[in-house]
Amino acid sequence: MKSRHSLSVVIPVLNEAEGMAALLPQVEQQLRRCRVEWEIVIVDDGGNDNLAEVVADFERHADGPCNVQLLQLSRNFGKEAALTAGLAAARGDAVVCMDGDGQHPPTLLPAMVAQWRAGYDTVIAKQGSRAHEPLLLAWAKRRFYAFLQGHERFRIPAHAGDFRLLDRKVVRALLQLPERSRFMKGLYAWLGFRTAMIDFDAAPRTAGSSKFRFRQLAELATLGITAFSLRPLRMVSAAGALVSFAAVAYGLYIAVETLVFGNAVSGWATLASGMMLLSGVQLLCLGVIAEYLGRVYEEAKQRPLYVLDETVDHSQLGQRERS
Ligand code: UDP
Ligand code: MG
Repeated sequence: MKSRHSLSVVIPVLNEAEGMAALLPQVEQQLRRCRVEWEIVIVDDGGNDNLAEVVADFERHADGPCNVQLLQLSRNFGKEAALTAGLAAARGDAVVCMDGDGQHPPTLLPAMVAQWRAGYDTVIAKQGSRAHEPLLLAWAKRRFYAFLQGHERFRIPAHAGDFRLLDRKVVRALLQLPERSRFMKGLYAWLGFRTAMIDFDAAPRTAGSSKFRFRQLAELATLGITAFSLRPLRMVSAAGALVSFAAVAYGLYIAVETLVFGNAVSGWATLASGMMLLSGVQLLCLGVIAEYLGRVYEEAKQRPLYVLDETVDHSQLGQRERS
């Protein structure tokens, strides 16, 4: 018999105290409407703001007993690692992951829980529009998802971010995946399970600015591609084949030109630009291969995904069963 009684809400945050002060009471209010036992797991991903005070304040002013865990990572490990830390600490029969900046509306929680109770193991809150993002960024994200759609057996749904409910068995399976390269959206999709979708429009941030600068986004995108697709490697082979074909064709052309027209000397400009083009293409291909090699290196090191500094555990959830 499946148990669907308790819920953990995991929120990874990096310098989001202001947003969290507004968000936590809203989450609490919605959770009380869901008629489940609940806890909130906040993961401080190496921030340097007064998050601990904000959380303590929230616990003092909550409308009733309040189960809160606050995990402090020893430095900034990135959102994916922080999420993993939160998932490992969560004790609910299901876990909802959400952002701490107010872009994921807590008002969706009751609907997500309802779908879970109806038998779904994963409930994805899917971003209906990217109206709050710059056009170029929204376009790049669309292209990225389109590029990743090459899988035959599982699909990474576009616009499905990290706002989702995962049943305990999904969380267990997720935590068993051994890889260090954690592109969560890909891992969720790889796992499968019965999935429901709910559409929502992401709100603008309540405070602060996005923690993902261009560089972080580019890194995450490369991670997603190298961890879930071999297409770039195939493209390298294809480029090699194309260039070789062009070289043979051009060689034939030169042979004919020399034999028929006796014009043997000209063409140093072609030679120079051809060499430059080819060394460029070669370096580019090496870079693609190196990206995969680097991924192998990261995996081979077997370092933990994150390091915990301090934990404040005021959550009674699941304590009875454990003791
Ligand atoms: N975040 C994190 N570690 C990081 C970067 C971001 O824990 O290294 C958190 C951040 O505090 C927020 C969530 O991840 O709660 C989503 O980040 P953000 O809103 O900056 O991303 P965006 O919505 O712009 O994609
Ligand atoms: Mg955000």
